[in-house]
Amino acid sequence: MGAFRTLFNTLILHLGDSEDEYRREHLSLDKAQSILTAIVVALAMIIMAIVDYALFEKNANLFRWMIWFRGAYGVFTVAVVLILRRTRDVATFDRIVFIWSLITAVFLVILNLTRSPDHLTTPFDILFPFAVYLLSPLKFEDNLVLTVGFSLGMIAVDSFYKVPTSPAALPTAIYWQVLVHLLGLPSSLLLQSYRRKTFKAYLDQKDAHEMANYLINIDGLTKCMTRLYFMEMAEKEFLRTRRYQLPLSLLMLDLDHFKRVNDTYGHQIGDLVLQRFAAVALEQKRAQDIFGRLGGEEFALLLPNTSLKNARFVAERIQQMWEFAPLTVDSKAVHSTVSIGVVEVEPSDNSFDDLLHRADEAMYKAKRQGRNRVEAG
Ligand code: GH3
Ligand code: MG
Ligand code: MG
Repeated sequence: MGAFRTLFNTLILHLGDSEDEYRREHLSLDKAQSILTAIVVALAMIIMAIVDYALFEKNANLFRWMIWFRGAYGVFTVAVVLILRRTRDVATFDRIVFIWSLITAVFLVILNLTRSPDHLTTPFDILFPFAVYLLSPLKFEDNLVLTVGFSLGMIAVDSFYKVPTSPAALPTAIYWQVLVHLLGLPSSLLLQSYRRKTFKAYLDQKDAHEMANYLINIDGLTKCMTRLYFMEMAEKEFLRTRRYQLPLSLLMLDLDHFKRVNDTYGHQIGDLVLQRFAAVALEQKRAQDIFGRLGGEEFALLLPNTSLKNARFVAERIQQMWEFAPLTVDSKAVHSTVSIGVVEVEPSDNSFDDLLHRADEAMYKAKRQGRNRVEAG
């Protein structure tokens, strides 16, 4: 039993938390495959009326009844296909496919009942479990219920309602049913496992891609955007705002006498101060604001949909919060301040660079006016 479990676990790959995501991602593919399968099976069932004709040549009543029976199955399948096309969630999709498969299995067992008593399971009948194993997108357990249920139904009909013409007929019919499971089961496990492995590889690749993007675009020390990424995002925002004629403001923030902080406490402490400052500024920003480290101890905060008046308000809040931020390093109180230049887009700004240049000038004005203050440009 233990060895069987190991074999099973090796064959099937469990995705754990990603299982739902895997099913959702594959839903459109599963839908297309199930619809195609349902149409092919329904057509085959209807065309098989030719066999009915051969079997019930002398029984017109039964033949007519069989035509109705097959027709009803065809109509049912068309309804299922129409519902499946509109299905958007996995649980509903699974339920519909399971019901359709179950009714198909019952339909086939009933067909077996209608055939003459010496007509046992044909190789044709064992196609059902095999098709379920290879094509069904349902959970492995659901497929097992369908296929084993079908086989037991067929064997029951053959055993209790049929009169075998030879002693080998019934064992052969049972043998066919057992064989299809022995071949279908591992095939199904392998197929489902390959699909999951492919999906897992896709997830890993997506993660790696996101991680690479993060490492390229996010500054390692302060966890805000790098200069390059900030410029890219800011230029996009500049163009968007101009197109829709919305207000846009920019803050240029530069820590005061930062050389002194480094000289007094050391470069490492200087790094921690930079980290703290970025955290304070990030706390103040809204989701749509764009915050980046332009270099050294210089940061920029772009505020979409914000007038100069409101941007100034944001700048003053950051400047004051930073001035009074309790900053203790190695039980020593470190004092740091920031000078901020604020500007709003004007018609004369032809590019984001123009805006950046004016914000820089406003920031230098704040430095000249004595630092630890906000100046508008
Ligand atoms: P001001 O008030 O005029 O801005 O003076 P300042 O000393 O801040 O200006 P300056 O631009 O002359 O010096 C910036 C200093 O910031 C120089 C550099 O040692 C320090 N610095 C730049 N990047 C880092 C960093 O990543 N970590 C640390 N600890 N210090 C940095
Ligand atoms: Mg500085
Ligand atoms: Mg500087």
